[in-house]
Amino acid sequence: MNVIKEGVFLNLRDRMLVGGEWLDAKNGDSIPVFDPATGEIIANVPDAGEVDVDHAVETARRTYQSVAWRGMTPAARERILLRLADLIETNGEELAMLETRNNGKLLAYSRMFEVGASAQWLRYMAGWATKLSGTTLDLSLPLPPHVRTSAFTRRIPIGVVGAIIPWNFPLLMAIWKIAPALACGNTVVLKPAEETPLTALRLGELALEAGLPPGALNVITGRGERTGAALVAHPGVGKIAFTGSTEVGRLIGAICGQNLKPASLELGGKSPVIVLDDCDPAVAAQGAADAIFFNHGQVCTAGSRLYVHHDIYNDVVQRLSAIADNMVIGSGLDAGVHMGPLVSRRHQERVNSLIDSGVADGAERLCGGGALPEKGYFVRPTIFANHDNRPMKLLHEEVFGPVLVAMPFTDISEAIVEANNSVYGLGASVWTNRIDAAMKLSESLEAGTVWINTHNMVDPNLPFGGFKDSGIGREHGAAAVESYTTTKAVCIAYAN
Ligand code: NAD
Repeated sequence: MNVIKEGVFLNLRDRMLVGGEWLDAKNGDSIPVFDPATGEIIANVPDAGEVDVDHAVETARRTYQSVAWRGMTPAARERILLRLADLIETNGEELAMLETRNNGKLLAYSRMFEVGASAQWLRYMAGWATKLSGTTLDLSLPLPPHVRTSAFTRRIPIGVVGAIIPWNFPLLMAIWKIAPALACGNTVVLKPAEETPLTALRLGELALEAGLPPGALNVITGRGERTGAALVAHPGVGKIAFTGSTEVGRLIGAICGQNLKPASLELGGKSPVIVLDDCDPAVAAQGAADAIFFNHGQVCTAGSRLYVHHDIYNDVVQRLSAIADNMVIGSGLDAGVHMGPLVSRRHQERVNSLIDSGVADGAERLCGGGALPEKGYFVRPTIFANHDNRPMKLLHEEVFGPVLVAMPFTDISEAIVEANNSVYGLGASVWTNRIDAAMKLSESLEAGTVWINTHNMVDPNLPFGGFKDSGIGREHGAAAVESYTTTKAVCIAYAN
């Protein structure tokens, strides 16, 4: 189905892509895809069963073993990924609109992150294709004098990578997986989230146009419990690269453990934002607002727990709630809107019930909550003040929406204890110009990334991942390349 939207031609694919062919699910099942700003169905995509997953994995395996793929030079893989980056940019307006219609996010976010950052990541990872290297090693084997040895290692691809991604950055999350996987010489079966499959399908099509052999990137659609689970359990998949909730990550990790299959797990978060007393309250309030409201709070590193030094607490929190109160809510396609809808009705209901829990737990709601008249899945930016640091569900459970709890603290050690009092450990930010405090906090906070005077900054060269229940493994940079390859040691004996 193709739709013209505001002068842009949208490719709404309604079949999945395996081995370069567009296919329905063998069982004929499909899943409706919604526009979260209106609640309308905009497409139906296949709900793949085990047979479809098996076909996709076998296709990826055959391609992995083919002369066309195995014989391709690293430089040729690099060129394809660079061409794909160019194609993402030349088709950028279409991809951005497609993402905003499917996910609800602001068009500006789609342009900047789904399109711009995807191209940036592809280019960065393309460069790694030609830079994989091993080492040469001297051995100490007790051999007779007429025998000599030499040894070396190679970084080699794993085989078929099963990539399972969430709905919050649909295109960018796909790129975070497929770019390092393909650069390292793997083939991929990608399963986007059931809510947001459309840009991943278009990505598969653009990859073919870029010159990727059919079968090197296969995109299957379907529900997690069926399609995703079949991909994880498939013996032909050599590695699972997963981003999503801790609950599902735990399940996937257990199955991969049983099958001795490597899994990288990028999971949930409950990131603290710590503001020290030397901060300008206006800067701190804007920083805290950006940390929680970016992408409507649907960010794994969203700064959802705000700890402010008590000397500036009231000032910062009042300014922050004024920022939240003034945010314009509406369709992500409309100019002047600051916050679009959440991704689905189910997610909207979950976020609203967590807001209700904040009220029930006795915190003061400074702004937000309450129903909105629009048909879409909107939630107002919501701020709770927890002046007396009372226990709250909202302090421990990931909301994944525009909901923040603010609390005062008196000294840095207290802030460290409170910030680390979470099962999660994905991100944290510290706002201060005091180098001693910044260093102390960056050392003590249990988080995969600590930002100083900024939040939610990611870069293809900066390792990203979680401590504790926020996951296992690191994405980006050399760490990603390592996780999409394995080591082969070659040992040679020869006559002296
Ligand atoms: P989710 O775990 O429900 O789903 C993620 C993906 O897993 C989807 O594609 C889904 O279909 C699939 N899935 C669900 N059940 C499965 C199963 N049993 N077997 C295999 N696959 C299955 O998460 P979500 O609601 O889509 O996304 C939100 C979550 O993702 C949040 O917890 C958020 O923090 C996390 N997230 C983490 C990062 C990170 O880098 N750490 C980034 C973005 C989102």
